[in-house]
Amino acid sequence: MVDFSLSENDERILDAMREQSRVVRRYARYYDDNENELPPDALPEVVNFRSPYKDVEFEEGIDTPRHVLHVLVSAIQAWGDYGVLMKRIGEGLGNGVLTAAGTDEQRARWQRCTLAIAMTEPGCGSDPKSIQTTAVRDGDEWVLNGEKIFVTAGCRAEGVVVAATVDKNLGYKGIKPFVVMKGMPGFEVSHREKKMGIRADDTATLLLNNVRVPGDHLLGACDDSAAGFRAIMTALNRNRPVVGVAGVGIASAALDFTREKLKEEGIEIVWGVGKQGRSAVQQELIEIEADIEAATLGLLHAAWVSGGNEWKARPTSIAKAKAGEVARTATQRCLALLGGLGLSREYLVEKWFRDARITDLYGGTGEIQRLIIARDILGYSSAELP
Ligand SMILES: Cc1cc2nc3c(=O)[nH]c(=O)nc-3n(C[C@H](O)[C@H](O)[C@H](O)COP(=O)(O)OP(=O)(O)OC[C@H]3O[C@@H](n4cnc5c(N)ncnc54)[C@H](O)[C@@H]3O)c2cc1C
Repeated sequence: MVDFSLSENDERILDAMREQSRVVRRYARYYDDNENELPPDALPEVVNFRSPYKDVEFEEGIDTPRHVLHVLVSAIQAWGDYGVLMKRIGEGLGNGVLTAAGTDEQRARWQRCTLAIAMTEPGCGSDPKSIQTTAVRDGDEWVLNGEKIFVTAGCRAEGVVVAATVDKNLGYKGIKPFVVMKGMPGFEVSHREKKMGIRADDTATLLLNNVRVPGDHLLGACDDSAAGFRAIMTALNRNRPVVGVAGVGIASAALDFTREKLKEEGIEIVWGVGKQGRSAVQQELIEIEADIEAATLGLLHAAWVSGGNEWKARPTSIAKAKAGEVARTATQRCLALLGGLGLSREYLVEKWFRDARITDLYGGTGEIQRLIIARDILGYSSAELP
C-alpha cells in the first residue's frame, strides 16, 4: 500500500532539517552576490550539524521508509538554499560513475575525492552520443583531447570523470569514462561561468590538451560494449530526482514567502468557500500550492516504486519533468503576485526565481524527460524516437 502520511519520527526529522536550513539560508544572499567566492567546505554555524536521522530509531511499518522521506528532507535543504547546499555535498556526480564502473582498487583510490562529471561539450548537450572529446591509447597511457563546458563543481572538484570517445565509429559504445585529476599537465579550468542562478555553485569550462592519464584511469573495460556509457548515464539518472526535489524546495520557499507577504496585506486563502467566493489572488495561491504538492507527490511516488534501489526510469522522468516545470512556473507566479517587491534584492524571492531555472535544464531538460517518457510508453528506442 502506498502511504505518504508522516509519523512522529518523520516530523521530528523534518523539523530538525528545517532548523538547519534556516541557518544555511543566512548565507544565501552572500554567495549569490559574491559569485567569485566559493562557500567554504563547512559554514561556521553548520559545522556541528548532525544528520537529522541520527538518534531517531526507524520503526518499520510506522515511519516513512528513509529513501522516501529523503525526498522531503532534500526539498527542505533546497528550501534553505540550493546553491549553498550543493557546495556542502562532498561527492560530485563523477563519484557515482566511479561507484558504478570502477574496480575496488579504483574506488579505494578516488572515493574520498570530489569528482565532477564532464559530458557536455560546445556541440553536445542533450544528445551525449555526439561527444567529440577523444581518448587515444598510447602504450600504457591514454591521451585525451577536447573541451568540456558547464561542468558543475569544475573549479572545486579534485578530479573530473571525463566522457571521451575511444572510437567515433562505435557511437555511444565508444564513449568511456576517464578519471582526470587536477594538476595533470594539459588539463586546465579555462573559464568559470557567470550564471543567472545557483551562483554559489561553480560551473566551469575544462580544456584537455594532450592530457596523458595512466591506463588505469579508465573506469571499466575498453571493449565495444555500452557499459562505460551506461555507467555515466546511470550516475546522471540517479541525479534526476535530486534535481527535481531541489525544484520543489525552491518553489516552496518562494510560495512560503509570498504567502507571508500577502498575509501582511491581509490576504489569506479562504478555505471552505467555492472558487466564486475567493479573490483571484487567493485562487492563484491555491493553484501554486496544488502544483507544488503534485510535483512533490510525483517525486515521493518515484522514490516509493523504486524501493530504494535503482530509480525507475519512467516515474523518475515524470517526476523530474513535473518538478522542473513547477519550479519555473511557481516562482514566476509568485513574482507576479508580489509585484515590485518580487524584484527587490532586499528579498530572496527574485533569487529563487533565478535559481529555479536550472532544475528544468540539467539532469536532462523537461523536453528530454518527456521524450524518455514517450519512448517508454510507446516502446520506442532512441533511434526510433530521437
Ligand atoms: C549550471 C549548469 C550546470 C551543468 N552541469 C553539468 C555537469 O556537471 N556535467 C555536464 O556534463 N553537463 C552539465 N550541464 C550541461 C547540461 O546538462 C546541458 O546544458 C543540458 O543537458 C542541455 O544541453 P544543451 O545546453 O547543449 O542544450 P541542447 O541540447 O542544445 O538543447 C537546447 C534546447 O533544445 C531542446 N532539445 C534538445 N534535443 C531535443 C529533442 N530531441 N527533442 C525536443 N527538444 C530537444 C532542449 O530541451 C533545450 O530546450 C550543466 C549546465 C548548466 C547550465
